[in-house]
Amino acid sequence: MRINVTRSALPPMEEYVEEIRELWDSRWLTNNGIKLRTLEDQLRQYLHTPHALTFVNGHLALECLLRALNLKGKVITTPFTFASTTHALVRCGLKPVFCDIEDEYCTMDPQKVEALITPDTCAILPVHVYGNLCDDQALSAIAKKHGLRLIYDAAHAFGVSKDGISAAQMGDAAMFSFHATKVFHTIEGGCVTTSDPEILHSLEMERSYGIVDETTVSHPGGNFKMNEFQAAMGLCNLRHAEENLALRRHAAETYHSLLGGREDMLLPRMQPGVTHNYAYFPVRFPGEGRRDAAAKKLAEHGVFARKYFYPLTNDFACYENLPGFDSSLTPVARKISGEVLTLPLYPGLSDEEILFIANILKEM
Ligand SMILES: *Cc1c(COP(=O)(O)O)cnc(C)c1O
Repeated sequence: MRINVTRSALPPMEEYVEEIRELWDSRWLTNNGIKLRTLEDQLRQYLHTPHALTFVNGHLALECLLRALNLKGKVITTPFTFASTTHALVRCGLKPVFCDIEDEYCTMDPQKVEALITPDTCAILPVHVYGNLCDDQALSAIAKKHGLRLIYDAAHAFGVSKDGISAAQMGDAAMFSFHATKVFHTIEGGCVTTSDPEILHSLEMERSYGIVDETTVSHPGGNFKMNEFQAAMGLCNLRHAEENLALRRHAAETYHSLLGGREDMLLPRMQPGVTHNYAYFPVRFPGEGRRDAAAKKLAEHGVFARKYFYPLTNDFACYENLPGFDSSLTPVARKISGEVLTLPLYPGLSDEEILFIANILKEM
């Protein structure tokens, strides 16, 4: 038996075949086709946002957003994230300034942001880690006070909302990833949500060569479009979003009932007022070497949990010796990074499999 940390959800094959059938008649395979337009419509509704623009993947959506905002200088961000967040900044010529995270939900600690702001700071880029929402009220107030852009890496936060406000409505804009391993996917894909028509226009220019009409090209943009086959997968998966969410919730609750109440194994807590998407199941093992021992023990039984997020991006080999890239400057992130293990969680993970995993961990 092999159980991986995740397993991509797929619609019934016939449903996807039905969805792509008309593409054989129309021969319209990409470039703002019917599947893409329908998906963007449905995403606007699902995410409660006036504008949702799709991209070929989440990472390039983020790079396009950074370029669309014409940012220059330093961006305050978090090292407790996937490589993409930090790499996107560096690849766009921006300098990441790492802010520590808070201990409970692993999101950027708003109390530590202002001390990092300098005259060349242009934006704040926090991450809704594991689908836990950042403190948007506090971060928005800081951004407003200092005239900074606030953009969210919402790659983990599809469908998450707090007191009726969706992650897609927070900040100047938010990036969602629709990668095959995410809660909702288009195989590869992503989107940017915003309520600002100017940002929307710049994103459109960035996404498709800056072509305005047949004779006008107003911006040296690139090609970052999602194609019709990706969009068709999204249309199918969106129909199953609620059903998949219920299965994820059930799996998370089963873990809680089997592993809850231990001080040496801290299970993820739900944020008050937040409608969660159960994207990940991060468990913390406090104490020297205990996380690594748990990962090893699980692997010996064919269970491949992941150390999300270890190493921190400010410890990546490619950034060695660069000023500011040093995890000792973000001690909370460093501590959690050494304790956390993300257990398998996906629709279709059976109660028996969860029991199997829980029993291995209980023996530790
Ligand atoms: C997945 C992910 C991305 C990048 O998304 P892709 O669609 O894989 O390019 C960015 N940030 C975070 C936090 C992610 O988990």
